[in-house]
Amino acid sequence: MPAEALPQKPDPFPATPSSSSLEDHFAHIRPDRAESDAFASLEHRQLRDGEFWREVPPFSKIDAATFMDPHWQLKNSVRSPSEISAFLRGTDDEFVADVERGLALAPMSIRITPYILSLIDWRNPREDRLRRQFLPLASEKLPDHPISVLDALGERSHSPAERLTHRYPDRVLLISVDVCPVYCRYCTRSYSVGANTNKISKFKHVTTGSRWAAAFEYIRTHPAVEDVVISGGDTYMLKPDEVRVIGNTLLDIPHVRRMRFATKGVGIMPMKLVRDEAWLDALTSVGQRARSMGKEVSVHTHIAHPAEITAITREASRMLWDRSITVRNQAVVLRNVNDDPEILKLLIRRLSYLNIHPYYMFQHDFVPGVESLRTPLHHTLRLEKHVRGATAGYNMPTFVVDLLGGGGKRDAHSFEHYDRSTGISVYVSPVVDPNALYFHFDPIDTLPPEGQERWTRSDEIPRMLEDARDAVRLCS
Ligand SMILES: *Cc1c(COP(=O)(O)O)cnc(C)c1O
Ligand code: SF4
Repeated sequence: MPAEALPQKPDPFPATPSSSSLEDHFAHIRPDRAESDAFASLEHRQLRDGEFWREVPPFSKIDAATFMDPHWQLKNSVRSPSEISAFLRGTDDEFVADVERGLALAPMSIRITPYILSLIDWRNPREDRLRRQFLPLASEKLPDHPISVLDALGERSHSPAERLTHRYPDRVLLISVDVCPVYCRYCTRSYSVGANTNKISKFKHVTTGSRWAAAFEYIRTHPAVEDVVISGGDTYMLKPDEVRVIGNTLLDIPHVRRMRFATKGVGIMPMKLVRDEAWLDALTSVGQRARSMGKEVSVHTHIAHPAEITAITREASRMLWDRSITVRNQAVVLRNVNDDPEILKLLIRRLSYLNIHPYYMFQHDFVPGVESLRTPLHHTLRLEKHVRGATAGYNMPTFVVDLLGGGGKRDAHSFEHYDRSTGISVYVSPVVDPNALYFHFDPIDTLPPEGQERWTRSDEIPRMLEDARDAVRLCS
């Protein structure tokens, strides 16, 4: 049986200009183009301001001092299905039941900050794009792809020391904590991040002595490592002292030149940067010490939709700017959340306006339970085409596929082969492994009927993979 398709939505892309006449062909350089909407829109500068959270009934009595308090944000995050049900009391019963069933089926635990809850339009939560990003509905669920696996990126298989992934020659990924202030439904690290759910018993990092001792020792004894991604979980959850310990220990290693603290915090709890002085001071002191040593400290954040950016985010990013800390954004292309050229352009312009560099847009990883959020590769490539040029080239994200099986990040356009009917694309990654081929798979429900049909037959699957392999050999 072919997978059931999500409701069809109108094609979000403007029509490709026909080249029927020379005049049409050059329409885009006519002088009146400067007056067109695309040029006049300043929407990216209009951020939600004031006490916007009061429009959401459970927060109607929350004053600004309380809402801006990061401890209040953490304490009042919804973190269980019963808490989300309590939060939703009074909204449409059928919707609440759909959420409850969606959460029961989900591989990821739930945690959402009041900040994000206050930005969702609860009068129409089914259609709201932030709701879709953070809260699953059973009615939206699609079957997993037949090839779906946990730890799709092979982080555990590339792990030479506890809490460390070493895939590229000069940089490593340090898993500093296992918790986040929000849990993303589509998290790549759903194999280890968050509490156990009904569906999955999480792999736990076993720790001996200092949590990071083995990782630090590995970095210290591997002079090729210049760049450390301090990830998680989310480094927002590190205590100020832990930020200093990690930062200073790494700075003391002569060959470490760059480090990035990864946090979704700028997007989901920006008030921490405005109000948690101890944490910001810790980061600032590491940043300033790095600068005095000729090294770089940056923050990598994760903002997926322009509606996550408010006047509070503007204040938060200004705090980091004032402290000379570069902020970059890496986000995922999510179906029916941000997979629309207008939304992505707005996101990119808004980030740029706040001096946050759009760095990567990821093709959605292979994560179980969230097939309805994945887009086919051809859609992502088309998005890139329609978005590039909307602002300065240095603020244009690279659209990448993080390869299944641990091949690393590759420009989404750089496939060796792509069959739109089977949805199989094949990449190489010479720096990681010059002999390996890496496969990426479009969601089944987006394939043409003949492609969907082939995936239902188990004897066809090895044949489709072999055909894709052969096609690459023929081309090279
Ligand atoms: C993403 C990632 C990095 C950093 O890659 P960049 O392309 O430099 O951002 C490093 N190590 C691992 C394992 C990664 O997944
Ligand atoms: S913030 Fe990052 S690590 Fe945490 S759940 Fe989201 S994607 Fe996963």
